Amino acid sequence: MGIILTLSSARLPGPAVDFECPSCGLGAVGGESHTQVDTVRAFFLIPLWRHHNTYVVCPSCTRRFRAPAGLDELSQLDANELTVLLGSGTSFNAKAYALVALAFCWAPLVGLVMRLVATVITRRVRGWPRTVSRIALGVSILMFVVLFVPTVAVSVIKLFM
Ligand SMILES: [Zn+2]
Repeated sequence: MGIILTLSSARLPGPAVDFECPSCGLGAVGGESHTQVDTVRAFFLIPLWRHHNTYVVCPSCTRRFRAPAGLDELSQLDANELTVLLGSGTSFNAKAYALVALAFCWAPLVGLVMRLVATVITRRVRGWPRTVSRIALGVSILMFVVLFVPTVAVSVIKLFM
């Protein structure tokens, strides 16, 4: 006999919150906030696992951002604090790509390609992943110019000698 597992989601509405949208950049907007509670139950009754996530929604572009805070904490934050908090909830991918770009920035072509990927992924991200990927671009362009350009120049000169 198997176990019947069901997943149910409930939304607990939270206070109206002001923040600068990380996506569309709209400032101090009255956004909606809620906590989503996902519960996995066995045989429709016995709760096995419960997961809370708090989100704020931008009323302008309707994008949803995960807030690393509870609803009660949200109501105590001002617009600046909440904006900083939303920026710290950067997705794992953006962090991973920024670090990979930094790790490979010494390799001219790899660094440049990785940097382009990191730019696309982190272009709407606030905080350190964007800064790190910009530094990585600077270093990879420098390495490209220092290592690759002279090699090509020497090859071209040899061709005509
Ligand atoms: Zn927005």
